[in-house]
Amino acid sequence: MPSTLLAKPNINYLLSSTAMALCSAFCPRISANFRPKPFSSSPSKPLLSLSFKVFSSQATDASSQDKFSGRVGFLGLGIMGSPMAQNLIKAGCDVIVWNRTKSKCDPLISLGAKYRSSPEEVAANCDVTFAMLADPESAIDVACGKNGAVRGMGPGKGYIDISTVDVATSKLINEHIKARGALFLEAPVSGSKKPAEDGQLIFLTAGKKSLYELVSPLLDILGKSRFYLGEVGNGAAMKLVVNMIMGSMMASFSEGILLSKKVGLDPSVLVEVVSQGAISAPMYSLKGPSMVKSQYPTAFPLKHQQKKLMLTQDLRLALGLAESVSQSTPIAAAANELYKVAKSYGLSDEDFSAVIEALKAKSQDTA
Ligand code: NAP
Repeated sequence: MPSTLLAKPNINYLLSSTAMALCSAFCPRISANFRPKPFSSSPSKPLLSLSFKVFSSQATDASSQDKFSGRVGFLGLGIMGSPMAQNLIKAGCDVIVWNRTKSKCDPLISLGAKYRSSPEEVAANCDVTFAMLADPESAIDVACGKNGAVRGMGPGKGYIDISTVDVATSKLINEHIKARGALFLEAPVSGSKKPAEDGQLIFLTAGKKSLYELVSPLLDILGKSRFYLGEVGNGAAMKLVVNMIMGSMMASFSEGILLSKKVGLDPSVLVEVVSQGAISAPMYSLKGPSMVKSQYPTAFPLKHQQKKLMLTQDLRLALGLAESVSQSTPIAAAANELYKVAKSYGLSDEDFSAVIEALKAKSQDTA
């Protein structure tokens, strides 16, 4: 695979070409370095079932039997990125890793991964590069910043951003990658720490179909299902809608647990009752028992739902998305307020199920 780079693109042009035209009210705060100027030119898996893989009707017929023989880069080794990179290594892939905090690379290096000291070097030495970053700002920084992955991209290479970002950010990164003659796929995931460890994520992909087909064997190592949703932005939008539903569900579940307790019921029994009926959800069964004990082991940090200081994320981005198309979302808006309160109580790094603490505090206020 050639690692020759194209001439450096006209960054001003590239930056001008996306977000302003795309995001209207739905645009994250992008660091001044990357701020754009105006355009000038189905699957399901029953809880505790045996693992199986499902591919949507929107997926191609690529199957796990195909093998990807190229070199794979992995940028961002947090809660999600580390187990994903580990699964690729364990599956026999030739993996090069990078993380801002270098020490997080060490366990993967001891499993056989190679290390490069910048996203640019990783991309230059790999056929395809995955990025799993915290938020839109870091996704842009790692892709398009100084020593960013874009500078290591070239024809024949692919960049797959699996971070949860907004539509405008995804389109911005796509433009930068495309300008290098390389291919881009957005592929945010549904699923948390445990599904990442178990290779049971759900990929919501959009972008270059040929890249989707090329990396499908890798997605099949990391996940149980994958959807191909068309043009760049659709994966990001789907992910935000899913997380908006998740945020509202968790807020509602929290209310139920507290109400059951207040009226003298055993909230553990409520969790069990819910798990047996039509509203059962793996999320409730997984998190309910610890919520009852006021424990919130972090799988999906609350800050991902409400990242006001680290730019906006998930619920906030979903509300922005809804606003951009004048869709009313009063339930999600109310849930968002609760996550804001939880964040103000210093719960950002707890699991998002700690949102129940915001409700407890509210009840005390009104008692
Ligand atoms: P995390 O544990 O906080 O890891 C974030 C990663 O981003 C780390 O590698 C961190 O590097 C890196 N990073 C942050 N800011 C950076 C910057 N300015 N420059 C370079 N690197 C930076 O987050 P996570 O839970 O793995 O989530 C990653 C993404 O997946 C997020 O977009 C999240 O919304 C999404 N997601 C998470 C879950 C979940 O359950 N956790 C589920 C689905 C999707 P350092 O190690 O140096 O801090």
